[in-house]
Amino acid sequence: RAKERGGNHYQFYTPDMNAKAVEKLAMETDLHRAVDREELTVCYQPLVGSFDGRIVGAEALIRWQHPELGPVSPAEFIPLAEETGLITQIGEWVLRTACKQMKEWQEANLSLDRVCVNLSVRQLRQDELVATVVSALQETGLAPNCLELEISESITLHNLEQIIDTLHNLQMLGVRISIDDFGAGYSSLMYLKKFPIDTIKIDQSLVQDVVTNSDDAAIVAAVIALAHTLKLEVVAEGVENEAQFEFLSSCQCDIIQGYFFSKPLSAKKFEELLRDNNA
Ligand code: C2E
Ligand code: MG
Ligand code: MG
Ligand code: MG
Repeated sequence: RAKERGGNHYQFYTPDMNAKAVEKLAMETDLHRAVDREELTVCYQPLVGSFDGRIVGAEALIRWQHPELGPVSPAEFIPLAEETGLITQIGEWVLRTACKQMKEWQEANLSLDRVCVNLSVRQLRQDELVATVVSALQETGLAPNCLELEISESITLHNLEQIIDTLHNLQMLGVRISIDDFGAGYSSLMYLKKFPIDTIKIDQSLVQDVVTNSDDAAIVAAVIALAHTLKLEVVAEGVENEAQFEFLSSCQCDIIQGYFFSKPLSAKKFEELLRDNNA
């Protein structure tokens, strides 16, 4: 059957696959424990205004320090957490942690407009999502307009109406919504048309070659112009060097995020950077 699906590889059942399945199962068990054993942390990457260099926001990014394996990338364990449903619990923990941290920074009189939290598809499909967000805001005392929820462009079309409803309800609370990884999927324009959003985040795969590839440069420039026509704010992700930064600024991109300005930092390091930036 594997052969029927194309290629000459008989990969239907191999010892290698078996090993992978065992590895996956082990990681699943470990991830369950990680929550209780406090192996998960949240780090923060600055979002910087491209006109004045001010840090306007922080994206909360989860980190897992596995006791034996060391750091495990979210690209690896978030899909697993999605599959097993554990993402609901983990996602809620990230949301509360980020809201609490943001409130602490505000109380320390640090100037920061918002904290951005990634939502997984599974969370978006949850009936309780709006209630969860309300309770995170109430318990931490954070104002709704200081929270931005990022939804990935890669979400499927299944149950789209319900998702749009949920996003409307979140926006009515005053929470901001952004489309993450914009331009990495297949139906970007449909999202702009259908989803109630405030911000688009241009995917790093598009940003990467803006200086060397004139097609990518044209696409990015057009996306920024289009977003502005729709009164949306634009963030460029994965900005790694000055040439990319200069190009994006020249296209009036509002906000820059990437290693050029800073990698994701521990809360403590982020606060130090913020103090410097405020001064
Ligand atoms: P994302 O939301 O698109 O986050 C941006 C990713 O790009 C982060 O990877 C960040 O570290 C990385 N990045 C930032 N600047 C640069 C740069 O200049 N160059 C390069 N090459 N990379 C850069 P990270 O932290 O490994 O996260 C990967 C993905 O995992 C995130 O992509 C997001 O989809 C997911 N994720 C992370 N934290 C959470 C979470 O709390 N909940 C959910 N549902 N997903 C999360
Ligand atoms: Mg994101
Ligand atoms: Mg992204
Ligand atoms: Mg991404």
